[in-house]
Amino acid sequence: SHPVKLSVHLHPYGDGRKLMLSRDVTALEQAEAMRRDFVANVSHEIRTPLTVLVGFIETLQTLQLPNAERARYLSLMAQQGARMHSVVQDLLTLSRLEGSPLPGRGDWSSVRALLVRCEEEARALSQLLTPEGSMPHRLAFPEDAQLRAAGDIAGSVPELHSALSNLISNAVRYTPPGGQITVQWQPLEGGGARFSVRDTGPGIAPEHIPRLTERFYRVDRSRSRETGGTGLGLAIVKHVLQRHGAQLDISSVLGQGSEFAVTFPASRLRVPRAAQA
Ligand code: ADP
Repeated sequence: SHPVKLSVHLHPYGDGRKLMLSRDVTALEQAEAMRRDFVANVSHEIRTPLTVLVGFIETLQTLQLPNAERARYLSLMAQQGARMHSVVQDLLTLSRLEGSPLPGRGDWSSVRALLVRCEEEARALSQLLTPEGSMPHRLAFPEDAQLRAAGDIAGSVPELHSALSNLISNAVRYTPPGGQITVQWQPLEGGGARFSVRDTGPGIAPEHIPRLTERFYRVDRSRSRETGGTGLGLAIVKHVLQRHGAQLDISSVLGQGSEFAVTFPASRLRVPRAAQA
């Protein structure tokens, strides 16, 4: 409960009396503060790589560097450019999500197809993040029979894919290679389903958990950046899930790992007859 803030306006009558008008501007001011924070964050996220980029360009312009050195600078510049690109891309995704109508329930797609694609991507990402000679992550996905029994889900495939793959890629990015990542799809009583991603990564302290879906909120900036994070991933996930009537629950034990679980309502799922209990 926040203190209520009133805006007071005194309206004078000709006869010396005054009418006092007041209204609660707490929500307005909060929205304004959030907007300011957001703009400051966006500017910061773009300015940092831009500063590096401009610095390197100036270096290349002033110094006659040997080819190998030049190549190294150019590759660092490409990295910074890619980083800015991801931030802008994620911002556009968010603003599109906010502006577009809710995905209808008429478009059905197979849960299996969605998760098979997520698994391929997770394996590729794990390879990319595992140094030569180290053990990659151990990835466990549902068995094929289980995926077939999961049936179809209603909504936007690109949105659902981005939400589920984001949760899985976070698990891979924040868990050191060799760690275990378990993805499950469990039917719930009453026709809903629970999708979950469990990892044996660093875990998240309880005070951070409620803030993870805020734009640009990061617990570990350097790990986020090293692995191409923008700090917008979970904000996008939350948005997409809300639009699909699904709920995100995060639980974690520091030093042991985290679980990100999504509950889909029965109204969004269509399970084949044979699989129904
Ligand atoms: P980012 O692009 O930084 O990964 P996200 O919005 O996807 O942004 O996640 C926000 C923050 O939540 C991350 O920066 C990280 O600190 C934390 N986080 C997300 N997933 C995990 C995970 N599986 N294990 C530990 N920390 C995580």
